[in-house]
Amino acid sequence: MDIGDSPDEAAFRLEARTWLEQHAKRRDPSARHRPASTDAEQDAHAKACQDWQRVLYAGGWAGLTWPKQFGGRGGKPWQAAIFAEEQSKFDVSTGVFSVAHGMVAPTLMMHGDDRQRGHLDAMLRGDEVWAQLFSEPEAGSDLANLGTRAVLDGDQWVVNGQKVWTSGAQHSQYAILLARTDPDAPKHAGITYFIVDMRSPGIEVRPLRQITGVAHFNEVFLTDVRIPVENVVGEVNAGWKIAHTTLSNERALIGGSGGNAFTVPELIEMARRYHRTDDPVVRQGLAQAHIRAEILKYMGYGVRTSISRGVMPGPGASVMKLFFARHWAAVGSLAVAIEGAAGMLWGDSASDDGLWQQVFCQQYAIRIGGGTDEIQGNVIGERALGLPREPSLDRDLPWRETRGTKA
Ligand SMILES: Cc1cc2nc3c(=O)[nH]c(=O)nc-3n(C[C@H](O)[C@H](O)[C@H](O)COP(=O)(O)OP(=O)(O)OC[C@H]3O[C@@H](n4cnc5c(N)ncnc54)[C@H](O)[C@@H]3O)c2cc1C
Repeated sequence: MDIGDSPDEAAFRLEARTWLEQHAKRRDPSARHRPASTDAEQDAHAKACQDWQRVLYAGGWAGLTWPKQFGGRGGKPWQAAIFAEEQSKFDVSTGVFSVAHGMVAPTLMMHGDDRQRGHLDAMLRGDEVWAQLFSEPEAGSDLANLGTRAVLDGDQWVVNGQKVWTSGAQHSQYAILLARTDPDAPKHAGITYFIVDMRSPGIEVRPLRQITGVAHFNEVFLTDVRIPVENVVGEVNAGWKIAHTTLSNERALIGGSGGNAFTVPELIEMARRYHRTDDPVVRQGLAQAHIRAEILKYMGYGVRTSISRGVMPGPGASVMKLFFARHWAAVGSLAVAIEGAAGMLWGDSASDDGLWQQVFCQQYAIRIGGGTDEIQGNVIGERALGLPREPSLDRDLPWRETRGTKA
């Protein structure tokens, strides 16, 4: 049991730990677990995630907090947190399902019809990996500016356009897609939310390689891609509100994912090995990292409670995402500073298998993906603090006019 566990929590932890011991291999604390840094490692990771998800499903541990009506266990957020804590001690991951479980599922539960919710079971079984086709070259922070067009042709929508930064598209069977269906409406009012089969003709996925060496995300080109009308989630032209549900859950997902790549105890153990724990600056950094990790844990409980009750997490998710991004950046910078000159090494040449260099470099991805630090600041200012709205000159104009001849 963990110090601070109530009797119920301790009993649940024991049940989870016992099951995990029987079905998974414990992480070797002396072996480092840096994120995948080659395509082959990434493919192997995706396959391992699917295999593990199937084991979780068979064992009744998939969808811990999902309502029973959607195939989940109907559990409490604290149970999911304890299970995640225990699972992180084992050599397993469900990372490839982040978009499916963390973003698509809550959106379909809230806005999908019965047929669309049929995907939930396949996600839980580990049969469907999903991607998020939202961002475009000219629509990131200003997502409502997106220009991918969908035009109705009989009982199908025909989609043309380009998406970018699509995480995991190369492993996905399905995606959620935002496309413009009414270019004459103001930018937020002409967007529709679709489900798209990634195996459809006309979809081309081109990997983008990051500084870490791996192609985590992709460009996705859509040329005359046909989507059946029943794949529209909610109403035509009313996709912006639904996208909000997805984005809010994305912030909660990223902000609540602390400890996936590293833990503060691992950082402290590394500082000990480098004989740096007597350094007062390092000690302060380690103490602050521990405090931030604890704060994030409790923020996560709050946000996950909202999600499991089917309530939008709201600006609290932005607070947590921003705080998490700052925590990650501070840990990455502290870790390579502790390593000193050795912090400049990379991959196999670096200590701990290059884990801390990966953490350091990934801070930029975390500060941008799911909405940048600045955008989280805007959300917190406007929705949590009630500050005046950011001025927008194109908000009420027909979108087509704002894009000149390109539309
Ligand atoms: C690791 C990673 C994974 C991602 N995965 C996906 C994915 O799976 N699917 C997907 O659709 N997208 C994905 N993205 C894209 C991500 O959502 C966008 O990169 C992000 O929203 C920022 O958009 P942008 O890159 O176009 O930057 P821009 O919007 O062009 O921003 C450039 C800079 O200007 C600042 N800025 C812009 N507008 C404002 C403003 N109003 N106020 C203050 N500052 C502002 C930004 O903070 C930033 O510093 C991913 C990104 C990363 C890094």
